[in-house]
Amino acid sequence: MVKRVDYHIHTTFSDGEGSYKEVIDRARELNLESIAITDHFDPYDPNPSINNIREMDLIEHFSMIKEYACKKGQRVICGIETCTDFYGKIRLSDRVIKNCEIIITSPHYIEYGGSIIPGKYYDDKFWTAYKNKVINMAKGSGNILGHMESYLPYGSMLVPNTTTFEGRIRLAQKIANRYFDEKYIDELIDTLRFSNKAIELHCMTKSPRDWVIDKLSQNNIPMSIGSDAHALDAVGMIDWGIEKIKGHKCIQYSI
Ligand SMILES: [Zn+2]
Ligand SMILES: [Zn+2]
Repeated sequence: MVKRVDYHIHTTFSDGEGSYKEVIDRARELNLESIAITDHFDPYDPNPSINNIREMDLIEHFSMIKEYACKKGQRVICGIETCTDFYGKIRLSDRVIKNCEIIITSPHYIEYGGSIIPGKYYDDKFWTAYKNKVINMAKGSGNILGHMESYLPYGSMLVPNTTTFEGRIRLAQKIANRYFDEKYIDELIDTLRFSNKAIELHCMTKSPRDWVIDKLSQNNIPMSIGSDAHALDAVGMIDWGIEKIKGHKCIQYSI
């Protein structure tokens, strides 16, 4: 039985649009079995709306979430979405890690010394560095490897004001088809098998690709359903993930 859960949601605490109360109310309305509120927390992120959140505020955020969730009778898991260093190491204090019930590690940026030219999307060296970092992240700590085939860190490659959200998704698909081949996915799966980390079914971008989901399923890698909702009306948009778990007979990541 596939559980109706959404394990990747942002609130106004980081860059989401709904407050934690609104998110919990929405989850209740949708009858979701469980949700995870996973705001960004990463002191190393280049984005100032993300990198200046204080540890004590995060811990307080968790306790307010728990209190409201309890009052509303909604199961809510408290955690974060964060990036790691190049070697897959989470750079957070023990206190933060101890307080997180779920940690999604997503490749939001990569440590890359080369120069990036806007409009030059197929930069072999850059994508090689990306692939290496993702393998390291799969090896490293955290529970779930987030959106590794979409929301790629190509921000500085984009020509300003020329791409739409859909355009960026299509670009990520082209990059995935070109660089994340079967040999690479096999290497990623071998890594995940040892680390016991789950991989995310990223409902917002409908990724990873079908053949990748098939391989992950054949190798018993757990899959975590997440909407990656930033807008309130995207909370619980998990139907694609549920279909994939059923259709590909995946093991569902569940807490
Ligand atoms: Zn992300
Ligand atoms: Zn996210």
